[in-house]
Amino acid sequence: MATTTDQSTQRETLPHGFQYDLFVIGAGSGGVRASRIAATHGAKVAVAEYAPLGGTCVNVGCVPKKLFVYGSHYGHDFHDAQAYGWDVPKASLDWPRLIRNKNAEIERLNGIYGRLLDRAGVHLIQGKAKFVDSHTVQVGDKQYTADKILVAVGGRPFVPEFEGSEHVITSNEAFYLEKLPKRVVVVGGGYIAVEFACIFHGYGTEVVQLYRRDLFLRGFDDDVRKHLAEQMQITGVDLRFNSVVKKITKLDDGCFEVTTNKDETIQTDLVMYATGRHPYTADLGLKEAGVTTGQNGKILVDDWNKTNVNHIYAVGDVTDRVCLTPVAIAEGHAFADTHYGNKKRNVNYQDIPTAVFSTPSIGTCGLTETQAREKYGKYGVDIYKTSFRPMKHTLTKREGEKVFMKLIVEKSTDKVVGCHMLDAAAGEVIQLVGVAMKAGATKADFDSTMPVHPVSAEEMVTLR
Ligand code: FAD
Ligand code: NDP
Repeated sequence: MATTTDQSTQRETLPHGFQYDLFVIGAGSGGVRASRIAATHGAKVAVAEYAPLGGTCVNVGCVPKKLFVYGSHYGHDFHDAQAYGWDVPKASLDWPRLIRNKNAEIERLNGIYGRLLDRAGVHLIQGKAKFVDSHTVQVGDKQYTADKILVAVGGRPFVPEFEGSEHVITSNEAFYLEKLPKRVVVVGGGYIAVEFACIFHGYGTEVVQLYRRDLFLRGFDDDVRKHLAEQMQITGVDLRFNSVVKKITKLDDGCFEVTTNKDETIQTDLVMYATGRHPYTADLGLKEAGVTTGQNGKILVDDWNKTNVNHIYAVGDVTDRVCLTPVAIAEGHAFADTHYGNKKRNVNYQDIPTAVFSTPSIGTCGLTETQAREKYGKYGVDIYKTSFRPMKHTLTKREGEKVFMKLIVEKSTDKVVGCHMLDAAAGEVIQLVGVAMKAGATKADFDSTMPVHPVSAEEMVTLR
């Protein structure tokens, strides 16, 4: 961390009678962006953080996850290389080296965040913050006052309580495992469960994934969900849907036995729960500040990130709108521009492109087929889709990597209103499909775009 500046001794107040224009609680994706931009616009800003800077994304989220995803692909790559003429000696894994290298990269990023705040003139206060009243925040034994307070405390993993739930880990701990488990049971069917099932499998762990309904990734397009489930099963991930954990027992050898609602028992070395995340608001003193919360403690805000208290705002996962890093950043930036940059703006949540870093990965933007038919009528949309073996695997013959692409087009306007794909590069491709959709591209625009040959994404502009 570049600089730690505890300004608690600075008691002087600004013309409005408070020490700071803005006090931000939480230096994660949303909090860092908001405080940095507000300070750059000239506001006097403090941010409180008790953990390493950067929040979930940098420390136990997107960044280490993506590094694990990259690492998990090498297992396949060594195998694939043989088809391309390479003789690769039997590969072996030094898991602690991966963790060490990952930790070093995260520390580097923590340092960058510290320097960004420092250069912008933001006062960093280390410790857990709590409201004393609606204008006062306490960190340790010191109190700070501010004209406006922004809550950007994010969320944390939620694990339901049941017999043996104390034995499970969450994604937070998965990033610091001392050794790679031989067998793992992953519970959940959202982004994190799917990504970690694929990460562990790629590293060679035997994976069972349990999900409580009949198909994981609820909310995603049904075709994409089915195709991913098929590909994962082909590669050997043991997907068990309609499965609920009844209890977990610790065995004498240190392993665990998971019993499901179907009275199946699974012996495993590790159980990882990825059953959602809840806002981090329990000990924040929101009651003292008069801030109202909704389901699971999420802070309720209007379109301008304002809570029910006029000068208290919230951005990012704590508001439980769209829990993605770029969204938290966009909300933080818009908040700072609106209040300190003389540029009133808020975030447009339509057509947010997103990726699930499974193997193969998902890229998705806009409406699912179900949503599109609900919106435009059963016969109001045209569906274009294709599925094929990517060129790379014509030589490797590897199964479980089939590409799937789908465009949903509103019939009356020819506008592309949904794009869903499964491909090794889906995250990269969907970013630019997102630009096209934002610009209102029609199917005719896609069709008139010259394909790049030979790449998988060329199919996106040749779908008939
Ligand atoms: P956070 O980044 O969580 O920051 C909140 C900060 O507040 C934390 O640093 C916390 O320590 C601090 N804090 C909490 N309480 C207090 C307090 N009382 N006082 C002081 N500080 C406090 N999103 C993507 O877009 N792409 C991905 O690939 C992706 N992968 C993910 C993988 C995993 C495993 C997880 C868990 C999440 C992933 N996400 C991903 C989601 C993304 O990480 C979050 O949406 C994003 O970090 C939210 O930012 P935020 O600022 O709201 O909260
Ligand atoms: P999600 O909300 O995406 O998924 C939670 C999963 O847990 C769902 O399948 C849900 O089932 C299941 N579940 C919830 N409660 C229980 C329970 N009591 N028992 C059994 N299963 C349960 O949360 P995640 O934790 O996967 O991720 C949190 C958020 O972080 C994501 O929604 C996403 O916004 C973000 N993220 C983004 C990533 C990316 O951009 N690549 C990667 C990782 C996270 P059901 O479907 O029935 O509700």
